[in-house]
Amino acid sequence: MSICIKCLKKEATLRCKMCHSPICRNCVISTPVGIFCSELCIQKMQSHIEKVKEIDKNKPIIKRKRIPAIVKFIIVLIALWLVAHFLGIDIVARIKQLISLLTGKV
Ligand SMILES: [Zn+2]
Ligand SMILES: [Zn+2]
Repeated sequence: MSICIKCLKKEATLRCKMCHSPICRNCVISTPVGIFCSELCIQKMQSHIEKVKEIDKNKPIIKRKRIPAIVKFIIVLIALWLVAHFLGIDIVARIKQLISLLTGKV
């Protein structure tokens, strides 16, 4: 078993979330984001979390607003085509029919 890196006496049953150093229950610092061996490790983890949050903030805005609109449009087109296909309607033939009706070449 590893020995606590802080007090160097007790058996380390926990590990720092940031540096993975072995720590005992007496020396551990508990935070909402995890357990740490030192304030330095808490700061490192917090800056890491903030960076991840910033990346998360910047990426989804572009992806969530633009790509689904195109995907939805394609899905709607495919769905319409499938519905027409299952109903036995030949869309291409109907469109040709409509064009010939409109242009007067029946
Ligand atoms: Zn300790
Ligand atoms: Zn640490």
